[in-house]
Amino acid sequence: MLPVETDFWQTPIVYLKGIGPSRAETLKKDLGIVNYGDFLNHYPFRYIDRTKWYKISEIHADLPFIQVLGTLTHMELNGKAAGKRLIAHLEDGTGVLELVWFQAIKYMEKNLVIGEKYIVFGRPSQFKERINMVHPEMEVFSLYKPQSNPSFQPVYHSSEKLKRQGLDSGGIMRAMFQLIGLGKNRITENLPAFVLYKYRLPSRKEALENIHFPEDAAKLSRSRGRMKFEELFFIQLKVLRIRDNRKKTIKGYVFEKVGDLFLDFYHKRLPFELTGAQKKVIREIRKDTLTGQQMNRLLQGDVGSGKTIVALLTILLALDNGYQALFMAPTEILAQQHFASFQQVLGEDFIQFDLLTGSTPKSKRKKIFESLENGNLQVLIGTHALLEDTVQPKNLGMVIIDEQHRFGVEQRSRLWVKNESAPHVLVMTATPIPRTLAMTLYGDLDVSILDELPKGRKPIQTQWFQENQRLRVLGIMKEQIALGRQIYVVYPLIEESAKMDYLNLFAGFEQLERTFPKPQFQISIVHGRMPAKDKDFEMGRFIRRETQIMVATTVIEVGVNVPNATVVVIESAERFGLSTLHQLRGRVGRGADQSFCILMSGYKLSKVGKTRLETMVRTQDGFEIAEMDMNLRGPGDIEGTQQSGILDLKMADLGKDYALLTEARATVTEILDQDPQLELPEHEILQEFFRVKNPGGIGWEQIS
Ligand code: ADP
Ligand code: MG
Repeated sequence: MLPVETDFWQTPIVYLKGIGPSRAETLKKDLGIVNYGDFLNHYPFRYIDRTKWYKISEIHADLPFIQVLGTLTHMELNGKAAGKRLIAHLEDGTGVLELVWFQAIKYMEKNLVIGEKYIVFGRPSQFKERINMVHPEMEVFSLYKPQSNPSFQPVYHSSEKLKRQGLDSGGIMRAMFQLIGLGKNRITENLPAFVLYKYRLPSRKEALENIHFPEDAAKLSRSRGRMKFEELFFIQLKVLRIRDNRKKTIKGYVFEKVGDLFLDFYHKRLPFELTGAQKKVIREIRKDTLTGQQMNRLLQGDVGSGKTIVALLTILLALDNGYQALFMAPTEILAQQHFASFQQVLGEDFIQFDLLTGSTPKSKRKKIFESLENGNLQVLIGTHALLEDTVQPKNLGMVIIDEQHRFGVEQRSRLWVKNESAPHVLVMTATPIPRTLAMTLYGDLDVSILDELPKGRKPIQTQWFQENQRLRVLGIMKEQIALGRQIYVVYPLIEESAKMDYLNLFAGFEQLERTFPKPQFQISIVHGRMPAKDKDFEMGRFIRRETQIMVATTVIEVGVNVPNATVVVIESAERFGLSTLHQLRGRVGRGADQSFCILMSGYKLSKVGKTRLETMVRTQDGFEIAEMDMNLRGPGDIEGTQQSGILDLKMADLGKDYALLTEARATVTEILDQDPQLELPEHEILQEFFRVKNPGGIGWEQIS
């Protein structure tokens, strides 16, 4: 128990001298700062280097805050009334710098001394032909004590309201200085001593002191490393404890045999030879389901790597052992498509399976629920509708979640857990996700990777065109249609510009109708404002090859599978994120024919937009694209991660801190192997910190 730590860290910020209720209120509202701990975790976003001295001859208007040492040689009052100002000259032998005050003129005039040597600190600016400094800080050189002046001055984010209340960056710095002072004997350690020793990490107190008021660059860097490590360490502790506790407390059904369904399908109905990677993953799943522990596995595979068939075989394995299975997709279209492909490869009588989505009629739902409860229905495919309480399978043994980024670690750990036993869970991602993200967001899962595409796939030719090359694009489309292939044309659609986006979509559709006139050509259109029924109808026509072109918004993004489609034209491609572009490209190249991805963009692109399109042209490797996407956007912006909260990182950067994360995870694994319940005295510190740090979140109590 560390009550001292608890008290200090959780002391409401209002108790800090000079804060008071109204500032405390704004701190909470604008920066989410409630207590001392939150405030200490409000890190500077940059520092002003006060170790460097500039010569006046070196100064130009683009410099940030700088400091200059010189002698005051001249002072004069200028202008009248509102235009009144004090002008002074500073000289250092290399030139003359003009200093200007518009406020506190009297005070400055009285206190500044001609002939005195000063340290002048401020931001240079251009005024007509001259460089000057407005309202610089002045410090008499003879009184200067280097210690009183941090060599790296912290700069903090603030808000307009906080600034008005005196808590601009400087105000925050002063409050922080005070708090760090109070914390001298009260900021306690939260990592075990042997961890600090092993990784040569500074103590928590030293790290926080040096992050806010660095003594030097080396200490700052070590301190940042320490706080990053701490963040990553506790996330890993959390996810790995969730995993361990689940393994210990939740029993998994044992799938003893590989039975008739699996074998029959495998030998007689499988439409192709499995890739080596698919076989490897199925072996991993088979192994998991023999252990008596619940399987929680993440299946990562690039677009088109063949995750669906792995899901199907996994389901058959469950059925062979007398269990039922659920197969959940994120959208209605995808659920329908999985259902359709089951129908196609399995036929109607091989197993009993059905489809449940938001639009399943009431009478049908009732039948589904009944047959699920009495065990007749073996597999139910569906959307989130599968999460409803009315879904009560008699003997659920396997849950497959396709293409999801939507459950956090904690949510997932609660799904379908009834009593002691829980079904095995296989989570499949739509596209690869970066390693660091996998280790955190899905850190509680074991990972399988499909790192091999089915044989015979030709790389997709990706080309980037602008409007003046549209004729060429239409030419490629004509050629492909003449060969009997089909084409997607995708338009961006985001809420903020929905009106304009729809206009573009319909204009594009009409233009295509002119170029590809009826009755020779048929074009489908699918977008979010259509009733589900019409969407299905249009999708259906395209799937049955009754239309050659499908114009759509990103509804086709995830998982749609029409192997005869060989071209995807992405309009205003610069407006899509990288992983979406990669997903969209994955809609083609699913058959043996040469496929094309055409990126249409405007002429004016942001740097990031340009990098995205260049990346798409350069590589087709989903893992590489995922890493690039994260680096461009930051992990917090990757789809689905916001809700999880687990990525609320203040210091660590999942784009850059892979090595640290690996170390943190290894350390946590070691600790938990040795002491799963954290009962050893040297681990008590962890229990306590976790309790304090996550008072509202899922604690050990809830899972152990
Ligand atoms: P994803 O991993 O993107 O979900 P799918 O499961 O939709 O990929 O598979 C993509 C396409 O590849 C489908 O048409 C599927 O039938 C086909 N496919 C899957 N595995 C193989 C394989 N081993 N050999 C040939 N084609 C395969
Ligand atoms: Mg898929």
